[in-house]
Amino acid sequence: MGHFENVALRRVKRRIKGLSGEKIPVIAGHKLLFTCNLRCHMCPFWRRPDPPLLTLEEERKMMDSLADFGVSFLGFEGGEPFLRKNFAEILKLSHDRFFTSVVSNGWMLKDHFRDVRDYIDYLFVSIDGVGEIHDKLRGVEGSFERAKQGIAVASQEIPVSLSSTITSENTDQVDKIVDFANEMNVTVSFQVAYDYSTAEKMSPSSVKLKDALIKLLDLKKSGAPIVETKEYFESVINSWYNGISWKCKPWLTINIDPEGRVVLPCYVLNEYTGSKRIWEIDLPKVWNAVHWKDYESCNKCALTCYLEPSLFSWSNLGMVKERIIDNIASYLTHEV
Ligand code: SF4
Ligand code: SF4
Repeated sequence: MGHFENVALRRVKRRIKGLSGEKIPVIAGHKLLFTCNLRCHMCPFWRRPDPPLLTLEEERKMMDSLADFGVSFLGFEGGEPFLRKNFAEILKLSHDRFFTSVVSNGWMLKDHFRDVRDYIDYLFVSIDGVGEIHDKLRGVEGSFERAKQGIAVASQEIPVSLSSTITSENTDQVDKIVDFANEMNVTVSFQVAYDYSTAEKMSPSSVKLKDALIKLLDLKKSGAPIVETKEYFESVINSWYNGISWKCKPWLTINIDPEGRVVLPCYVLNEYTGSKRIWEIDLPKVWNAVHWKDYESCNKCALTCYLEPSLFSWSNLGMVKERIIDNIASYLTHEV
């Protein structure tokens, strides 16, 4: 059975189970490793040694747990996923079960894309500025040029989006990054930097961030190829500047760390279920034992993977068109 059928079937099961009030995640993220070949100032991960990583068989067990629970989308990140041993085999396992995406810094993309192209449905390449500013923030000279070459290769074959983190150093770059997305004929996704305690503090000043968010909202409304919905920008602006909170549903997104443990309640608040790996626990029981209501008004982060699913509503037709119909159309047009 192809992954389209698998995912469709799971969606029906999820809707039926959801009627009983059970919380079931739709999206999963998996950090394959912490090791990275870049040195981004705001990133805590490259500073950590890798724990013993999962074997291929353990990756499969993790994916089976997620699929059995009802997950439809699996996104891989790191560190730099292309540095992971058996990366193509891991992606193939995922592609047999899920819509599969990868976030990469693009350094190895040009030379290694052909090994994995059949198993990725959507690729995100991190770009934090155009030219030197990107190299400065990513801590390695030449990283912009390498990423650009990789994007040019990959975007011929699969949907590619730039993934851009707004920090104190690049709030004035957002429109240039959108121009670069247009130049490369790809989309762009924006995140606001979160100040991890183990990395440099780089979140933007409140005033400059507001200007950047308003600029992005205007660009979105005028048709710029920005992945986030206009509701995303409106919700962040409303929450952080106007005191109107959005309702976080972190249970829609599940994260698995490089050791195979479930991160609870979310990636940012970052606690664990203990030392057991996902296939060693009763996942539905553990997931539904969390007091999710406690997090509804958190609004601490603006991570797209949490905020967008939390905002999604079948009664918002514009959102249904943008998030479901357009994405499937984009996937299909790259598939043929
Ligand atoms: S490329 Fe990603 S994982 Fe690597 S240092 Fe930068 S933010 Fe961290
Ligand atoms: S808003 Fe709070 S609960 Fe929701 S994902 Fe962000 S940090 Fe987690």
